[in-house]
Amino acid sequence: MNTVTVKAYAKINLGLDVLRKRADGYHDVCMIMQSLELHDKVTIHKKKDEGIVVRTNLSYLPCNQDNLVYKAAALFIQTQGIKDGLFLELEKYIPVAAGLAGGSSDAAATLIGLNQMYQTGLPLVELQKLGVKLGADVPYCLMLGTALSEGIGEVLTTLPSMPACTILLVKPDISVSTKYVYENLKLNESSLHPDIDSMKKALSNRDLYTLTKTMDNILQSVTVKDYPIISDIKDKMKELGALTSLMSGSGPTVFGIYQNRELAKKALNYFRKHRNYGKQVILTTPYWPMQEHQ
Ligand code: ATP
Repeated sequence: MNTVTVKAYAKINLGLDVLRKRADGYHDVCMIMQSLELHDKVTIHKKKDEGIVVRTNLSYLPCNQDNLVYKAAALFIQTQGIKDGLFLELEKYIPVAAGLAGGSSDAAATLIGLNQMYQTGLPLVELQKLGVKLGADVPYCLMLGTALSEGIGEVLTTLPSMPACTILLVKPDISVSTKYVYENLKLNESSLHPDIDSMKKALSNRDLYTLTKTMDNILQSVTVKDYPIISDIKDKMKELGALTSLMSGSGPTVFGIYQNRELAKKALNYFRKHRNYGKQVILTTPYWPMQEHQ
């Protein structure tokens, strides 16, 4: 096999709680992750001469060792003793620096692709051990679906699939640093923590309505204050029929959950016409790796 293509799926956080800051500077989190149909594509080719070359359709992304596909490929060939050179083509469709784990998912897809290409047969847990060295979200991006993510993101448990729905994404034209958000998160007795247990129960009951009423992201307490555009988008999505709307990860992307696809399409058209909310507006659905919900 000289060429392999793997899809790299985006994720949203249906729930995001931060439990504590750890001595090593990381935070212990408790998150409910959901992958989306929205995806990038990573194509890997063997090449004759040594070294890794990356090409991407986004001119502003690094193509050197700062790109997560490069990092993932370098880690894989080094740990598996592979001598070939590699040419990696990255087609980006997931908004960048958006809270949608685009880079982490590209890294995960690269590991999966190389594991196939070289028939190294590494089981998921071994790929996840490699993946966590590249980023806390990479272990989840290797498994996908609906999952509980704990620790720094590396302790993963499969959850019952999120019920079918349509999801609207709007990324405001602002950049929000993940480091800034975590540094400015105040955790004390009066912090309002999302009710992750109720969300898990709603998932078990396949109850989209209760799920959306309990969804929450503690990081919004930082970003909504500093970037009012985030609440403007959330409010507008609800006004346009979303069951709920929430910021994903450390932002700034906001997603709205729609039970009715026609309403979601109307909301999409509204945001496409009113570009002051953000120029990146995407309609998608949850992605389930096994499609076991149908
Ligand atoms: P997360 O939700 O995991 O915090 P994110 O959506 O906020 O991820 P990414 O899109 O992964 O953020 O990108 C964060 C930064 O990483 C960007 O500023 C970009 O320069 C760099 N980067 C490196 N490789 C990639 C890649 N393959 N795709 C996107 N960004 C990348």
